[in-house]
Amino acid sequence: TSTGPRVLYWFRTDLRIHDSPALHHALGLNPSVFIPIWTWDPHYVYRARVGPNRWKFLLESQQCLSERLTELNPRQKLNVVREDPTSVIPKLVRKWKVDVLVFEKDTDAYARSRDEEVRKAVEGMGVSVYSAVIGRTLFDPDELVKHNGGQPTMSFNQTLKASSQIDPGDGGKKGEPRRCVPTPTGLPEPLSAEEMDLSGDSEFRHEVPEKAPDFNQEHRGETKERHYEGVAGPNNDFAVVTLEEMGIDSKLAMSPHKGGEREALRLLKTYIDNEEYTGTFEKPKSSPADFEPQSTTLLSPHHHFGTLSIRKFWWDVQEVFEKRKKAGKINAPPPANFPGQLLFRDMYFGAQAALGYAFAQTRGNKIARFIPWDLQSNHSDTPVGEHLLDGTYNVNDEQAEEYFRRWKEGRTGFPWIDALMRQLKYEGWMHHLGRHSVACFLTRGGCYVSWERGAEVFEEWLVDHETACNVGNWMWLSCVAFFSQFSRMYSPIAFGKKWDPEGDLIRKYVPELKHFDKKYIYEPHKAPIADQKSWGCQITGDGTETGTAEMAKYPKPMFDFNEKRQFCLEKMKEAYDAHMYGDDKRVMSGEWKKI
Ligand code: FAD
Repeated sequence: TSTGPRVLYWFRTDLRIHDSPALHHALGLNPSVFIPIWTWDPHYVYRARVGPNRWKFLLESQQCLSERLTELNPRQKLNVVREDPTSVIPKLVRKWKVDVLVFEKDTDAYARSRDEEVRKAVEGMGVSVYSAVIGRTLFDPDELVKHNGGQPTMSFNQTLKASSQIDPGDGGKKGEPRRCVPTPTGLPEPLSAEEMDLSGDSEFRHEVPEKAPDFNQEHRGETKERHYEGVAGPNNDFAVVTLEEMGIDSKLAMSPHKGGEREALRLLKTYIDNEEYTGTFEKPKSSPADFEPQSTTLLSPHHHFGTLSIRKFWWDVQEVFEKRKKAGKINAPPPANFPGQLLFRDMYFGAQAALGYAFAQTRGNKIARFIPWDLQSNHSDTPVGEHLLDGTYNVNDEQAEEYFRRWKEGRTGFPWIDALMRQLKYEGWMHHLGRHSVACFLTRGGCYVSWERGAEVFEEWLVDHETACNVGNWMWLSCVAFFSQFSRMYSPIAFGKKWDPEGDLIRKYVPELKHFDKKYIYEPHKAPIADQKSWGCQITGDGTETGTAEMAKYPKPMFDFNEKRQFCLEKMKEAYDAHMYGDDKRVMSGEWKKI
């Protein structure tokens, strides 16, 4: 038996056992005791917006991880702890006589401050902490920033250039991501059941929290009384929480996209085995209208929860590229190919790492162009991702508020937009170009509503929500940062028609219209009344009336797109001419309203 240290391993963004550099380090310490935990972080559980589908994905991922740990050692499992990590980890370290705490580095603004607090508390108790390695991106975002002159990475080329100077530190070439570390073949012993037991200790017996959100409501909704007795759960067994236990209505968690490392590796294998698909994949050529199967990998939620290593994806793709090259076949070029897509992801992490909390909002953000949207962000409310700065600069135009509501609820009267928004709500995912369409439509290409409002909705409903990617892409699409060609807009009619002339995506997600002739499927209000009747749907109202089983109702377009397009172009030009950024004192003070 080992005489090595007692190691507490804290799983967070790395819910897997393959290619986990932090886990590899922990096991390399040759622990005498190894305790894998996941903690219930109130920041994500109660403050961030997490809809039922992402909860489901997370719980499936935890369950799978727990089973994988048991496969490695039948006495091991994932121990779920229900308390804020900043308070519970120091208590657990003391109670379980831990020598070393290990976790993967996380550069999200909130995570950094949380981890620093935990580190200080635990090191103050004489326990060592190891959290140096990054596992969730190709390159350490802090290194990208360092090699980009201390500045946020704002373009693909900047990211490529900065990464080309990073040494992977494993004998590999500069500019290459680190190679994968081996998957463990066994695990050290856990703590004995008696030593693990927290039930007799009053420190661990409080009820957390007195009021929990009703997860079936949209966030900022009502709270429901729900008590969690004890840090180790109601049965005192550190079990993975179930949807039922959280009070989540399983009908609201119907996403077909499944969590867990096994599912991630299975999906990856299907793409890697399909060498033609992987070698020729070009994102802009993949259809936003495809579903069952979708045209892209749908690996993003696995990257978010760390159920798939980003470097395994990278290196497996490189192997396919090599094989094809040897066979004289041409591979798709970056940035449209898979490695290029992963570098885009790193670009957003680099931007976030440089800017901290300010990255996730306009106010105080030096890269975010200020645009006086008709509906501004609402910072008096629960903020997107990781806001810290407070204060409001709302212009609450009632009309824009109504546009926002109808966009969110998929009843704009533009079937392409409504189909995509309903796909997002029911299934938690949407193709990248679909996200382009709806994000452009909400902001600079239709509703003229702040990108921060849209990012909040995505934050709640996406199974792959990642603050760096969500915020970065919303800024890109709204021409607030990263991209500035605001005259290039997506038509809510022509763009969908180009990809899906039959309107299959609409028929699937807006079933009221499923019998409409393809001539009218993108503009059903133009269909003659007699046809509307024979196809079983009247085009009328604002989408709040449900109609009957025989005669459904679907709204007319909520505005004339061409008029709004013109309006947005003029307003965007004015905003660009004003050249004001989120850290401008006029924005910070709210004074911009007088300009
Ligand atoms: P694939 O095309 O198969 O790409 C492979 C991987 O590359 C993805 O799994 C993802 O990890 C990465 N990737 C691809 N494109 C991007 C991109 N533009 N930015 C960052 N990473 C990328 N992606 C998220 O992971 N989380 C988000 O919260 C998120 N929010 C978005 C919001 C908006 C408004 C837009 C326009 C895009 C957003 N994206 C987000 C990026 C992109 O749409 C998704 O990563 C992609 O659609 C995921 O599907 P996939 O795994 O099939 O992608």
